[in-house]
Amino acid sequence: MKKNKIPHSIFRLFLYIFTGYILFHCISDANFKDIDLQGFVLLIISLTACIAMRTMVIDVGKMSLDFTDTLTVFLIIVFGVEISVIFELISLVISFIFIDIHIKKRLNLSRHLFNIPMFIINIYLSAKIAEDILRHINLSGFAGKIVAFLLIMLLYILVNITFIQIESTLKSGKYNRMSHEARGMIITNYIVSTMVSITLYIAYQYSEYACVLVIGNLIIIQYSIYLFKKLQAKNEAIKTLLKITEDIVKYGDFRDKCKHLIISLKELIPYTVCAVYTFDIENDAVVYPVAYNGNEDIDIGEMMFNISETGKTIRTLMEGKVYISKNVDKDQKIRITGKLLQVSEVMIFAPIIIKGKISGVIMISGGRELSEFVDNGIQEIISILSNQMALAIENDTFYRSMQMQANRDTLTRLYNRRVFDREIENLIESETPFSLVMYDVDNFKTVNDNYGHLIGDEVLKSISDIIMKSIRKTDIPCRFGGEEIAIIFKDLSKEDALIISERIRERVEEMNIKVGEENLKITISGGIASYPEDGNEKNSVIDNADTVLYKECKERGRNRVCVFNRGINKEAGADCRDKQSCSQ
Ligand code: GH3
Ligand code: MG
Ligand code: MG
Repeated sequence: MKKNKIPHSIFRLFLYIFTGYILFHCISDANFKDIDLQGFVLLIISLTACIAMRTMVIDVGKMSLDFTDTLTVFLIIVFGVEISVIFELISLVISFIFIDIHIKKRLNLSRHLFNIPMFIINIYLSAKIAEDILRHINLSGFAGKIVAFLLIMLLYILVNITFIQIESTLKSGKYNRMSHEARGMIITNYIVSTMVSITLYIAYQYSEYACVLVIGNLIIIQYSIYLFKKLQAKNEAIKTLLKITEDIVKYGDFRDKCKHLIISLKELIPYTVCAVYTFDIENDAVVYPVAYNGNEDIDIGEMMFNISETGKTIRTLMEGKVYISKNVDKDQKIRITGKLLQVSEVMIFAPIIIKGKISGVIMISGGRELSEFVDNGIQEIISILSNQMALAIENDTFYRSMQMQANRDTLTRLYNRRVFDREIENLIESETPFSLVMYDVDNFKTVNDNYGHLIGDEVLKSISDIIMKSIRKTDIPCRFGGEEIAIIFKDLSKEDALIISERIRERVEEMNIKVGEENLKITISGGIASYPEDGNEKNSVIDNADTVLYKECKERGRNRVCVFNRGINKEAGADCRDKQSCSQ
């Protein structure tokens, strides 16, 4: 990039020097005395029309277009090139000031400092070259005028395109081909401008009023195209918005939703960095984006938000509205540091509000392109998206809680019987081996009778907590019924299941539950059976675990874990004598 700065600056310097020369020449050569009252009125009307048309430029890709060329060429024919150049200078300067003050569109000074000399050189060159060519053709009368219009307009547009191409090539260091659409608009500009310019000339010969009428029509033509392009852009934006909204609803978990939002947003908004943050405003903390997309040389570490330190930014967001900072560096309402600040000229913050509380923020930052886009009603788009995001998060949370309610037991938070049945059926269907421990709390009736059902419930909860902390992620702990708890150990032998089950039994035995001054001691008993060795269908595995639990553990004194063993004790269907397979 740095390499191209020098030729670009030289090119600009050349433009200014050449413009200075042209202006000096035109001011000294212009024949102001020839302008009568009618001519003066015509110049004022043309000036007003030019300013009006510049407030509604038609955006075509990276180019913008208006039909002021129509008036420029018409004025060259009527007043000569010198007056037209001076007119152009006055009209451009007034237009830019007017646009800046009244339309509040951010003035891109660099571009306008290029536009003013470019248009002046444009008029001068095209008029002078046309003059030379026409002298050679030697056509007079009306036909001569028509050819003059066609020629000047053609040269004007060609010189214009050449300048834009040179400027953009020098600036970016590579040749940017003009899009089909841009070319189409230039041809339309040429046809419309030439036709109207000729009509304007004929009307001018006839009467001043007719001339005003044609200028009025010209403004209407430009306004219609301007509106059409605006609607077209809005239509495109709505289509993309719908797609993004669909994606937010469709894609998996919260992180996936954020990723999709950010990637799809690139189609709509020319950003440099975009990120979604979620935060807990009550706890001062550093937060990192849950998803982000941007420059390769910026990493997440440089995109953190220090909630307490950037209190200013957060306070601004707390107002709940989309906040656009057009000059991040100087904005008193926000504070950003690090690399993010270096790549951001403009920043947009859209708070994600759930149930009236700020839960996160969508942050979009960028340079010049984003700043131009900001003027195109970006606020609406962003607030629709942040609302959709909030809705998606709410739906997701609701769905999770529904799923939790459907699958979990409310007292113990263990899985319920439905999940237990389904999981065992699935394992048997897929022929996946598993072991099953069936626990039952010892003498639980007595606990209820002595301490009440509420303490009984507390005991069940405490046992469940111990179980959840003692098992692997793949194990499935379920409340089988009443005070019976089952754990399905996927892909685990009876011996290994016994080790885990025994550890749980020990931890329960060690547990102290305070009831007033008293220390309540609890024990549990457990029976283990495995698939496929102890049964090849659901009920036989459960029955065998149950049998060993009651016939062996309970009958032999409780507070123990026993393993079903068909081979050793056929009658009882269990073996609890062997110390290796039965605890205590
Ligand atoms: P055993 O050692 O033989 O198992 O004796 P036990 O007293 O525990 O006998 P049993 O297992 O048959 O008793 C189950 C008791 O558990 C009956 C019931 O009042 C109680 N129970 C079942 N579900 C709950 C519950 O959700 N909360 C409370 N507090 N008690 C429950
Ligand atoms: Mg029981
Ligand atoms: Mg019991």
